[in-house]
Order: sequence, then C-alpha cells, then structure tokens
Amino acid sequence: MATKAGDVEIDVAKHAGRDWLGGLRRAGRMVVDYALPPRCPACGAIVGDDNQFCLACWSSLDFLDGPACAQCSIPLPTALPGSALSCGACLADPPPFDGAPAAVAYGSAARTVALRLKYGRRTGHARLMAQLMARRLIALAGEGDALLVAVPLHRWRLWTRGFNQAALVADELARITGVPRDHHLLLRRKATASLRGKGRRERERVVAGAFALAPDAKARAAGRHLILIDDVHASGATLRAAARALKRSGAARVSALSWARVVPDALMPGNIFDFASLDSDMTDNRMTG
Ligand SMILES: [Zn+2]
Ligand SMILES: [Zn+2]
Repeated sequence: MATKAGDVEIDVAKHAGRDWLGGLRRAGRMVVDYALPPRCPACGAIVGDDNQFCLACWSSLDFLDGPACAQCSIPLPTALPGSALSCGACLADPPPFDGAPAAVAYGSAARTVALRLKYGRRTGHARLMAQLMARRLIALAGEGDALLVAVPLHRWRLWTRGFNQAALVADELARITGVPRDHHLLLRRKATASLRGKGRRERERVVAGAFALAPDAKARAAGRHLILIDDVHASGATLRAAARALKRSGAARVSALSWARVVPDALMPGNIFDFASLDSDMTDNRMTG
C-alpha cells in the first residue's frame, strides 16, 4: 500500500512537473515563434505555418503530373494515345528504370529548397519536399512490395556534410506513406565529381561503377519494387547508374522518384503543344462547319 501511495505521489509529482515543463515549453515556443516566425522556404517571406510556401512561390512551382514517358517520366504531349508511351531518347536507349517521376520541375523555388537542404543544413526542408512527393510515391508504389532506396553518398561526403539529403527525404516519405526504406541496400563505392557541364558520355563514364549492392542485398530486394529517392534529377546519369546496380539484386522493378526534375523549356507543361485541344477544336469545327 505504502508503495502504491508512494507511486501515486511520485506520479502526481511527475504530472505536475510535466504541466510545469509543458507550460514552460509552450511559453518558450511562443517566444521563438515571435522571434522566428515561419518563413517561406524559397524566398523567406513570412508565412502562416512551417513547411509552407508563400503564395507567389507556390504558384511558381510547376507540378509534373501531366502525361509523361513511361520509362523516364519526361513530360509528353497530351493527346498521343495510350499510356505506355516512351520518349525518343528512351526508345533509342532504354533507361534501366520503369518510371522516374518528380514532384516539380527544377525552377527557382524548387532549386532554392533543394540547395538550402543540401548546403544550408535546413534539414526540415526534407519534410516539405516529401510532403509534395508523397502523392507521386503512392501512385508509383501501387499495391506492390515497394522499398525506398535513397541514392547513397560516398562515406567521405557523408562525413563532411554530416547527412545524406536523399536519405532524409526517404525517411520522411517512409513516415508519411508507410512505404519502408532501406539505407543499407545500395553502397556508394566512389565519390563522383560534379557532372555539371559534362556531355552524356562523360557523365556516364564518371558514374560508371559508382554504386554497388550490399553483400546481402539479394535476400532483401529480390522480387520487390525498389524506388530510388533523390533530391534533383538533372541528366539522370546518377539515377541510371544506381538503377543498374539495383537491377542486379533480382528486384522485380526499379523506378526512381525525385523532388525536382530538370525539364527542357520546350517540354515544360505550359509550353507543350496540346494535341488534345487541337483535336477537340477540329471536332468542334467539323461539327459547326
Ligand atoms: Zn516565397
Ligand atoms: Zn523517356
């Protein structure tokens, strides 16, 4: 009994302590909120909530959810019949993945968020990116036995940066969607130099052999749908090299999902010539004429 009474007393004391601490935390948060109001992750304007773009930056984002190449997910004209279409580049040289969608096109706001995560250590931006990628992930993963695999960093780069931005995004995606992730399946054998400004062949040469499977990868990946997660899909050379390595695990399917995709101007959603609208115009003309 004495023990029970003691427990109750301790319990009450704990709760009182918690209330007191909670109050202090709330007050602290109010002070911090006052001093550091939530800001737009792209332009820094004050916004209503954390992880929220201001209206101008939000409306500047180009969401890539229109018709796309079945293999590399580059935007395609809308009226071409059938959904399993491939772009010219994929017909000439099929990539090692089935689908590589991105949440948004790589524009000013999308770039700023990615750079602030990667170099500015704004790790909270991983959650914002994942929130806007989650819908694409759910569509991509379907009912299959999907597993998220963040594009790994070489251990030296991980050591100097302190974190892998793609792994942070994969963690948030796993938390939001429930699709599991495995950070130990794919290894980075070499730290690759920047691919910027290099031609296609040179890029492929730089990333060749950059990735390897973990010794027990086959046991964990065979028959599954592996989804590579990256922040920016630029030339796709890194994703192709990583996907090629994953294919050797016996996975049933390999695809990729990134935050932002570099899309040539002519293929941007607003600039694509819409064959569908032309078609309906012609039908209308026929009907009225
Ligand atoms: Zn903004
Ligand atoms: Zn393609």
